[in-house]
Amino acid sequence: MPDGASVLWLDGKLVPIEQATLPILSHALHYGFGVFEGIRAYRQVGGGGAVFRLDTHLRRLVESAKILKLELPFSYEEMFEGCKNVLRANALEEAYLRPIAWLGEGRMGVGAFDNKVHVAVAAWVWGAYLGDEALTKGIRAKISSFLRPHPNVAMVRGKVTGQYVNSVLAKREAYDLGYDEAILLDHSGFVAEGSGENIFIVRGDRILTPSLAAPILRGVTRDSVIDLAREMGFEVAEHSFHRDTLYVADEAFFTGTAAEITPIREVDDRTIGTGAPGPVTKRLQAAFREAVTGRNRSRAAWLAPIGRVASAESVVARPTPARAAARRRA
Ligand code: PMP
Repeated sequence: MPDGASVLWLDGKLVPIEQATLPILSHALHYGFGVFEGIRAYRQVGGGGAVFRLDTHLRRLVESAKILKLELPFSYEEMFEGCKNVLRANALEEAYLRPIAWLGEGRMGVGAFDNKVHVAVAAWVWGAYLGDEALTKGIRAKISSFLRPHPNVAMVRGKVTGQYVNSVLAKREAYDLGYDEAILLDHSGFVAEGSGENIFIVRGDRILTPSLAAPILRGVTRDSVIDLAREMGFEVAEHSFHRDTLYVADEAFFTGTAAEITPIREVDDRTIGTGAPGPVTKRLQAAFREAVTGRNRSRAAWLAPIGRVASAESVVARPTPARAAARRRA
């Protein structure tokens, strides 16, 4: 069980995690037909916790569901409250949030249309995704033998559960070969992204990242970093580049909710820049931290305060405000 995850939000109710079990004949378990998000909440400099860009993440969840034609049984507002409630219920101010929606039990064929759709939100404590030293020393990456899927093979703009087999294969391959992370190319041979991160390179004062015309996930951290970098006066370009451009970059880094801004110090056994996190990467890491922790007040709109954190026991099995409101309406 991940640290701190004692209660989750399942179909509108807060339930103890050990009671939240899945029928083996759930459609999504067999065919991967589900969508999910990865979101972080941060302890704020002024006290309390806040979820970083909760609205943008939930909008992406709704869009992922639309791409699959998966009808979500809860509204954006209910899921928004559900995310905050699960943090409160677990007494977590700083945590990782995992909303997920999936096609459940019923018919077993690939084309089952009428099975019930379930939604859950879990939260747990998750430190540095790529290891404790990743953020300060950087990581070693390898160009994967697995490609990011062609957009007519997989719905690359959606965060779809089944599509992550590709990421898991790439990650495991890199790991087995002694690297920390995989970098996937697209079907045209351009650098696409990591197994769970977007990628950026720096050359001089110029920052470059693959454009959204590439088959990449539209990363919320990617978007935040582009915004912060431009505000700091950097030129940020979004266009394709090949692996050799990556090899000769001054700096390179991954962005992702879990990975935050992780410097890349080596790609395919070639040292990037000096082999240590570069000055641009470090400045962006600092700016990102100021934004997520509420120190940069001009980015307050990116933060959804969690509200009062209760002890886990006092909220278990109590209806969420959204459910209670629905009951009142009924
Ligand atoms: N690409 C992939 C394949 C991912 O899984 C993620 C993590 N969600 C990202 C990029 C980064 O996206 P975000 O910054 O929204 O977490």
